[in-house]
Amino acid sequence: MADPAGAAPADGVVDLVVLGGGSGGYAAAFRAAELGMSVTLVEKDKLGGTCLHRGCIPTKALLHAAEVADSARHSEQFGVRASFDSVDMAGVNKYKDAVVGRLYKGLQGLAKANKVTVVEGEGRLVAKDTVEVAGRRITGRNVVLATGSTSRTLPGLEVGGRVLTSDTALALDHVPQSAVILGGGVIGVEFASAWKAFGVDVTIVEGLDRLIPVEDEACSKAFERAYRKRGITFHTGVRFKGVEQSETGVVVSLEDGRQIEAEYLLVAVGRGPVTAGFGFEEQGVVLERGFVQVDERLHTGVENVYAVGDIVAGLQLAHRGFAHGIFVAEQIAGLSPVPVVDSSVPRVTYSDPEVASVGLTEGQARELYGEDQVSTFEYNLAGNGRSQILGTAGFVKLVRRKDGPLVGIHTVGSRMGEQIGEAQLIVNWEAYPEEVAQLIHAHPTQNEAMGEAHLALAGKPLHSHG
Ligand SMILES: Cc1cc2nc3c(=O)[nH]c(=O)nc-3n(C[C@H](O)[C@H](O)[C@H](O)COP(=O)(O)OP(=O)(O)OC[C@H]3O[C@@H](n4cnc5c(N)ncnc54)[C@H](O)[C@@H]3O)c2cc1C
Repeated sequence: MADPAGAAPADGVVDLVVLGGGSGGYAAAFRAAELGMSVTLVEKDKLGGTCLHRGCIPTKALLHAAEVADSARHSEQFGVRASFDSVDMAGVNKYKDAVVGRLYKGLQGLAKANKVTVVEGEGRLVAKDTVEVAGRRITGRNVVLATGSTSRTLPGLEVGGRVLTSDTALALDHVPQSAVILGGGVIGVEFASAWKAFGVDVTIVEGLDRLIPVEDEACSKAFERAYRKRGITFHTGVRFKGVEQSETGVVVSLEDGRQIEAEYLLVAVGRGPVTAGFGFEEQGVVLERGFVQVDERLHTGVENVYAVGDIVAGLQLAHRGFAHGIFVAEQIAGLSPVPVVDSSVPRVTYSDPEVASVGLTEGQARELYGEDQVSTFEYNLAGNGRSQILGTAGFVKLVRRKDGPLVGIHTVGSRMGEQIGEAQLIVNWEAYPEEVAQLIHAHPTQNEAMGEAHLALAGKPLHSHG
């Protein structure tokens, strides 16, 4: 994929050099090219970055295989006689890799179609407008830093052998018998959900007092209930102390004295920025805890150097990276785009059940507007026909500024991630429940729960109990 398309301009200076070809970097490159700029993108591994090769896509393929396994296991419940035999990890990996492979090919095709020059190799910022790759200097009128993130670990906890990160967990060629997962955030619970369906005896350890602790407390409670029902063990409010590895497994010690034996330990305690050693600070880019400091227009304060995606502190999500990339390209083109605000970014915890949310939690809204300036409503999926058909429990919770617009929507339940599209429109367009209540939601869909919740909050409930 080296240097296929866009020939370098006559003066040898391109309009934009992008360092890193993940979600943030390639979005900036593609949008800039659409806007008529000459673009060179430098990538040391594979175009698509974490999300395509080691994140969003392969994990969702695992979760889909997990759903198929659970459907087979529980088919009797729906009057269908099928039997669950086993999970063939080679087959799962073949399916997962094929999905990734198709998307990777498509992405390479898009780079070509957009005439983005992709240069393979590790780049280094050697001047405020120049990236060097294997002795070759590429100068741009603008530079976008998009070097992404990598799995974090804890002090003294060495990764390797039976201590996995999400990268090595995705590459396992067999289904483990048991696993301890350190961290009950999005990545930890995603693996817990898939592995449990594959037959793994899973134990999550979370230092804070609840699973998915950044979500609304009501979501965490419902989620924990569902995990208990699925037989996923978790310990919250307890910290990791140490791990011993042997040929056959690990013994994980917790600070409360408990010891848990398992075949593997998966470390899922968050992701840190990849910003060291590429010359950023030497060129005046300021780092804070490794994250690149930027203003709300993603400018680093150094000449025409911008940063996007996971190296900018905040939500580490692919679609935030896409939005950053598009924003910066349009900013460079002088289009005055609207800044990307983290509270407007939709969040989905992929699992069974799923948690999908946007905007403020109830706690955040009360803190921001005042205790008595917020009203909420929880629509229980027990009243939603489609959710009953699927056999899922959960809710749609609305958080509204008193007599004002919706400021947060939080949902739990199987497949509820699919509802986040409408939820984010409602919150970001600052809709009132009375306005949403006028819109018709198709029956019987899970989406109807969104409509029902707004009907109820607007004072005209239809299928709401209590
Ligand atoms: C297990 C897992 C599951 C996830 N699931 C989801 C999900 O479902 N939804 C979601 O929105 N997000 C998800 N994420 C997060 C998502 O993957 C990231 O937010 C996203 O990839 C960030 O994009 P980025 O462009 O900032 O960085 P990255 O995707 O990390 O890309 C950075 C790129 O830069 C390259 N690079 C780094 N340094 C250099 C250099 N010096 N020279 C050249 N190239 C360099 C790297 O090789 C990499 O390709 C998940 C992450 C993980 C780990």
